[in-house]
Amino acid sequence: MFTLRARYVFPVCAPPICGGTVSIEGQRVIAVGSVPAGGPVHDLGDAAILPGLVNAHTHLEFSRLEAPLGNPGIGFAYWLQRVIDYRTSFPPDEGAIRQGIDQSVASGTTLLGEIAQGSASHEAFHAGPIRATVFLELIGPTGQRAEEVLQLAQDFLRGASSCGGQSQPAAQKACFTPTIATNFRRGLSPHSPYSVRWELLPKLVALSAEAEVPLAIHLAESREEIEFLATGRGPLREFLRQRGAWEAGIAPIGARPLDYLHVLAQAHRTLVIHGNYLDEEEIAFVAAHRQKMAVVYCPRSHSFFQHARYRLGEMAQAGVLIALGSDSRASTTDLSMLAEMQHAAQQHPDVPPQQILAMATINGARALGWMHLCGSLEPGKLADLVAVALPARCPDDPHELLMSGDLPILAVYCGGLPVSATDILSRPGG
Ligand SMILES: [Zn+2]
Repeated sequence: MFTLRARYVFPVCAPPICGGTVSIEGQRVIAVGSVPAGGPVHDLGDAAILPGLVNAHTHLEFSRLEAPLGNPGIGFAYWLQRVIDYRTSFPPDEGAIRQGIDQSVASGTTLLGEIAQGSASHEAFHAGPIRATVFLELIGPTGQRAEEVLQLAQDFLRGASSCGGQSQPAAQKACFTPTIATNFRRGLSPHSPYSVRWELLPKLVALSAEAEVPLAIHLAESREEIEFLATGRGPLREFLRQRGAWEAGIAPIGARPLDYLHVLAQAHRTLVIHGNYLDEEEIAFVAAHRQKMAVVYCPRSHSFFQHARYRLGEMAQAGVLIALGSDSRASTTDLSMLAEMQHAAQQHPDVPPQQILAMATINGARALGWMHLCGSLEPGKLADLVAVALPARCPDDPHELLMSGDLPILAVYCGGLPVSATDILSRPGG
């Protein structure tokens, strides 16, 4: 057993504790307060101890990029083409994923919602040291591709290492791998309404419910997507046509994100990625389903695309479960969740900093289905935490200390063990 002490402990599930302590035994937190529960005490000084940060949405395959693809304000369909071009030149590989894990650890993140193209991501996460729900990206705009994708999803949930390269006998279809694991779980990601045929979605939702795994879908992300749903036309249709992926009936003409939300509400859990253009009725629907449905706001990626102002305050007021994500380095400069929190606070001064911290911790853990193990500092949960250096000032609300300025990472613990970027780089194959 040992105890960490710092100027502030932010348990998230309880108010900040000045001169707080976190006592750890084995992998778990056993006490949080102001009196050490036992063992040696490591005093971190003018620092804050937070739960390990949760990045609820990213694509680590792009972690080698040094700058986003395209210039700020790039049209969404043009950006998608840049993504396709990049993937053609640099197919996803385990090295890029490991770099992304490394960058995440270095910035205090201990749990991710990772969208994966193939098996590279889950192999990297199996090795640890941090945790993830790895969502298999599913793209099926044509009838034939939709059938193949359904098989891929079934194979992935059964734990087939090839992610569907080898079909399994039909009799094994119900034998999904257990969802409970300490560092790696599976999920499905039907990519978006313009890349997944409408009739495929309920089948993937049924798989999610049967296997008890979450779904993540990019929804209401761009004006172009809303136009595509409403009319079947616009830049996204042209993008699909140029790639030979256009086939009538991808989405019903006149559809809205709300039509998708009604279907998604039947899934085990759903992460609505972005939700930048959800209207009032749709926000109310997501709020009413907060037990199983969350929105993931990606603050700096949102600003990169110069989308319409994000309705963060309205969503929070309505009761939407909101998590934060970085999205990938194809649309943001790095994977720091502290930077995402600070950008969100700057863009939304109407949202209390306490809520923004919750979005990057407990809300993300809840959205990903890890809230019984991660996302807050309380006895019984895994000892996943980050210590950051604090500025000397003393605001009325200590949460404000986290929302601006440079906050160097002093230490990261996952399951009670210190982890660092170096640990990962020194692993075999790292
Ligand atoms: Zn994304």
